[in-house]
Amino acid sequence: MSILSSYKDMFGSSFYCECGRQHTVPLKHVVIKQNAEKEIPPILGRENLGKRGLMVCDDNTWELAGRHIAQTVSYYGYSIKACILTQKPIVKPDEKAITQILLEFEPSMDFLIAVGSGTINDLTRFISHRTGKPYIVFATAPSMDGYASTVSPLLINGFKRTYITVHPLAIIADIDMLCSAPADMILAGFGDILGKVTSLADWQLGIILAQERLCPTAKNMVKSAMEEVISRASEIGQREPEGIQSLMEALIVSGIAMMLVGNSRPASGSEHHISHYIEMKYFMEERQPLLHGTKVGLAALYTVALYNQLASLDPENIDIPQLMRTRISYEEWCQKIKKAFGPIAQEVIDSNNRQNWDAAFYERRLHDIKEKWETHLKPLLSSVPQLDMVKEWLHKARANFTPQALGIEQNLVEEALLYAKEIRPLYTILRLADDLGILEEKIKKIISLV
Ligand SMILES: [Zn+2]
Ligand SMILES: [Zn+2]
Repeated sequence: MSILSSYKDMFGSSFYCECGRQHTVPLKHVVIKQNAEKEIPPILGRENLGKRGLMVCDDNTWELAGRHIAQTVSYYGYSIKACILTQKPIVKPDEKAITQILLEFEPSMDFLIAVGSGTINDLTRFISHRTGKPYIVFATAPSMDGYASTVSPLLINGFKRTYITVHPLAIIADIDMLCSAPADMILAGFGDILGKVTSLADWQLGIILAQERLCPTAKNMVKSAMEEVISRASEIGQREPEGIQSLMEALIVSGIAMMLVGNSRPASGSEHHISHYIEMKYFMEERQPLLHGTKVGLAALYTVALYNQLASLDPENIDIPQLMRTRISYEEWCQKIKKAFGPIAQEVIDSNNRQNWDAAFYERRLHDIKEKWETHLKPLLSSVPQLDMVKEWLHKARANFTPQALGIEQNLVEEALLYAKEIRPLYTILRLADDLGILEEKIKKIISLV
């Protein structure tokens, strides 16, 4: 059975969940099939979206799908104006692109269609939110789990900021097009899903040690989607339609899980924080960016290895008085952050929880860790698969996410592992290792294992 079919009833509805909250899935339609563009006119009609739309694409996606979609939709009496983003070498989600779309947009337009993957969607979603016009997505590659997202990460004044935006009304994808997407985009999608191995475990850590709340529905959605994709690693590597269909569905389901809880916790943990750190450094150094899921796949190798390492730790060796004595001070920490984050250091310092530097709070947490080790933490840490197994999945999918293969220097990986935890004030495996005073030592170890 397909991953999506289990969740179809949720689309466009609200329901009460075991977690005690009411969830709403405003996304109404998901269609992944051959000749999927033919589904666009009936959806526009059923949703009464009006007759005039702006299609946002780039040179590639215009040739790949945009032109044909515009013709198909026009045949049914819709008037579509194309906004083809032309920035070179790649379109960035920045002020320039936003301005171009707004210049093409006319107040009499009724809806937007995004034709593309990551950046095109982030931009269209933002414009949809700001103009109040609904949008649908025609996805061209199974490369990331942001299709169902309700936030847009944009590059404003050269820095990445996340804007709360709006959900798409429909996600439509042509399976033949997804299967013939560039290999690095398909593998990036696989990497983004692989990252759920540790994002789910990190969420559990937050529940055990930082009073976070579990939503079993969101957790099960991400978990089952991840397991399905892993079981189809070979088919994905060989671009078989069943494998690619599962991958695309898993990416959408993972986005819906985030939609349910209203944040990215179920599908983004330490592996994403490491990816964000590498992305930030690449941006500062004006290097050619790597795909999001590729970096997540790389980072997952290290976060999995760190889980494996901590699983064999003996809680008797947690020396609380010694850890209290050797903990660096807040001032020392600020100095380190300034060095690592440069121009955005103050933002990082402000976003961190000052409580972490309170001695009594730290001591309580250490006791908590020690007390819960055998009952809660060890079972969780041991539930994360062994690094060798993850490497085998990657081999089956024909993916190579090692830093050597991606051209990432070892010192950047080391730096990312050390500082990624500061990017979000959430409890993750990186923070657990840091609380136990073994992060630096374990980084050296896991680097040699990957
Ligand atoms: Zn992701
Ligand atoms: Zn729930």
